[in-house]
Amino acid sequence: MRQFPIRDGELVVGGMPLTRLAARVGQTPFYAYDRGSLTRRVAELRAVLPPALKLHYAMKANPMPALVCHMAGLVDGIDVASGGELKVALDAGANPHETSFAGPGKQRTEMQQAVAAGILINIESFREVRELAAISDQTGDRARVAVRVNPDFELKSSGMKMGGGAKQFGVDAEQVPELLAEIGRSGLNFEGFHLFAGSQNLKPEAIVEAQGKSFELAFRLAAAAPSPVRFLNLGGGFGIPYFPGEQPLDLAPIGAALATIVDRASHELPEAELVLELGRYLVGEAGIYVTRIVDRKISRGHCYLVADGGLHHHLSASGNFGQVIRKNYPVAIGNRMASSERETVSVVGPLCTPLDLLADRMELATAEPGDLVVVFQSGAYGFTASPQAFLGHPACVEVMV
Ligand SMILES: *Cc1c(COP(=O)(O)O)cnc(C)c1O
Repeated sequence: MRQFPIRDGELVVGGMPLTRLAARVGQTPFYAYDRGSLTRRVAELRAVLPPALKLHYAMKANPMPALVCHMAGLVDGIDVASGGELKVALDAGANPHETSFAGPGKQRTEMQQAVAAGILINIESFREVRELAAISDQTGDRARVAVRVNPDFELKSSGMKMGGGAKQFGVDAEQVPELLAEIGRSGLNFEGFHLFAGSQNLKPEAIVEAQGKSFELAFRLAAAAPSPVRFLNLGGGFGIPYFPGEQPLDLAPIGAALATIVDRASHELPEAELVLELGRYLVGEAGIYVTRIVDRKISRGHCYLVADGGLHHHLSASGNFGQVIRKNYPVAIGNRMASSERETVSVVGPLCTPLDLLADRMELATAEPGDLVVVFQSGAYGFTASPQAFLGHPACVEVMV
């Protein structure tokens, strides 16, 4: 993991050797996120994206307030998916003009919060138009809205598909003209379109194709819009490598294709600000999960390292967060990085379920109770995407380094 150097056999996170970091945190298990790594990631991405393209952070990937605060200073805007996330984003100093809210089933109170905050609301149903019109009439604040479109295509080879076919997200492209007419009649402030086709994609050609089609679709739908498009969110879906054989996403072709889209937009949708929204890609590699080995057991010849953390803190690494086939996340013994003594073991957590598995038959440095297991690629969909109350073990904590 190139973002974390090794010194005297120990992984170094944010300039601090892992055992010292564990002492500083005061407990295991914990998540640690590296500010320097977050900052570098955004800079590397900006270097290949056309300058006119805005970069948003989709904070559901990691909503830790201190991290959102750091990200708010690096990106152009924050995308929230609930009223609770909106509060964190605003606390973090996000610019309301560049904050947007997507998600099916928005509650009346959440939409009231969003209108009062002056953020952009990505409309996902006809009900939301009516509710927002009522809120705007009541308060005199006109809601700023965009239409989240369920496209008539898919993002191919995505870890998770979120557009195309029948979906609970957005409004089907075929129904959008009717929705736009209703938005026009209800006097909402129409600003543009939001398209999000999928997540965790490592194929640049698939991403390029989806973004091209998204632009085409938005351009077609713009003809039915009550006012010019000022905002076009092309989605994202950029993946990170988790498993053996996966390669980091090649950004060059994506940057080149986006430059073409930005250029086309300057003629075809001249008032539109183009946005890319990314979660996992921005924060996933900057985070690690650290758990301490409590026990070492041999069962019929196979070695189990039993740790103080597991599935309840890191559902994704256990293989139970949407994965079809379980594969090992990158794992290491963080205080024995230079050890040449290695063995094949399984790292399990303390829960009474065989699903509580962090590493299945993996070759690791030979380890003992007290050693620190590190799960890499853990900055996204970790802490808040895990069932922490399951089995009543002590809580996990998060730190920024
Ligand atoms: C989840 C989500 C994202 C972030 O997805 P990543 O794969 O983490 O980049 C972006 N936009 C929307 C609408 C989402 O629901």
